[in-house]
Amino acid sequence: MSEDAGMERLIRSDLVNFGGYSASTSPETLEGKVEVPVEGIIKLDANENPYGCSPRVSQALATYPYLNIYPDAGQTRLRGLLQEYTGIGAGYIVAGSGSDQLIDLVLRLFLEPGDEVINCIPTFAMFQFSTELCGGKLVEVSRDENFAVDVTAVKAAITNKTKIIIVANPNNPTGTIMPQPDILEIVNTGLPVVVDEAYYEFSRATVAPLLTQYKNLMVLRTFSKWAGLAGLRIGYGFFPPEIANHLLKIKPPYNVNAAALVAVQESLKDIDYLMDRVKAIIAERDRLFGELTRLKFLKPFPSQTNFILCSVLDGKASKLQQKLQDRGILVRYFDKPLLRDSIRISVGKPEHTDALIKALREIGG
Ligand SMILES: *Cc1c(COP(=O)(O)O)cnc(C)c1O
Repeated sequence: MSEDAGMERLIRSDLVNFGGYSASTSPETLEGKVEVPVEGIIKLDANENPYGCSPRVSQALATYPYLNIYPDAGQTRLRGLLQEYTGIGAGYIVAGSGSDQLIDLVLRLFLEPGDEVINCIPTFAMFQFSTELCGGKLVEVSRDENFAVDVTAVKAAITNKTKIIIVANPNNPTGTIMPQPDILEIVNTGLPVVVDEAYYEFSRATVAPLLTQYKNLMVLRTFSKWAGLAGLRIGYGFFPPEIANHLLKIKPPYNVNAAALVAVQESLKDIDYLMDRVKAIIAERDRLFGELTRLKFLKPFPSQTNFILCSVLDGKASKLQQKLQDRGILVRYFDKPLLRDSIRISVGKPEHTDALIKALREIGG
């Protein structure tokens, strides 16, 4: 074999130009590159919970004796716990290594090469990522100027190749909520619809009660944001039971690890504590919104989540992001169609808001 032929020419041709996912920055990779020590970095770029997980989780993990044992592939105990927490029957529930994995599994289950997924942009990048990785074709429908889903346009985009319509509600990175009648109009098309409710505990908006009524509805949730478990990767979804069974069959057998199960168990024993933190984050979001409004060069959008999207009115969002990063404050910036020059700021603790606003005032003048 010739020297430079290499193996690369053998990979799936549709993945040669695959864009991947631009993940958030890990603070340790910034050591020496920012003006503060790594421990001083304020991470407001991935919608993580600034208060961390429940202390019960850390305690239970420190003494958990069965790390040598594979977790239950059938997720029996986990699905039982999730039934108790959500009120949705265990037969409807499948858990994943983050809800990211459930997006992937649903698309793997439904998509044949060339099948279409309708995606309402701008939205969560994993929908595109997984669609393309599964060999599907992404059909993009633009949201309007307030980032509301254009239901008429969604319906007009349906073809005989459409397999799934996916929407995040509330949407990331815009924070927008979709009115329930609009969701219903999409569900009433009869096509499989995925509603990603990653921020449910912040918004309290859900279509989960409609699951028994609509056989084409799927709902995703996660412990990453409200429960502070992003690092342990635990999400779940509600599916019609026959679809849940197919998902259980095709998922990697031990997709939710033992530590994540312990963490769910302990988090659910500490709901009051965690919901107090959620309330604090919501209050802080509203304070942050007020502070951002006062800055002339930013236009914040109202949010039902734990983050706020802002248009940067007088310059490049990438530059602003970099200047904040130099000061040890991480935010996310976007520069895509419909999301020109925008930054997304996750809600931190009050002192994080103070540091951010101080930095923004210094930078923005
Ligand atoms: C954060 C987020 C997720 C991913 O959650 P994980 O459970 O951590 O994989 C899914 N969907 C949306 C819309 C998100 O913002």
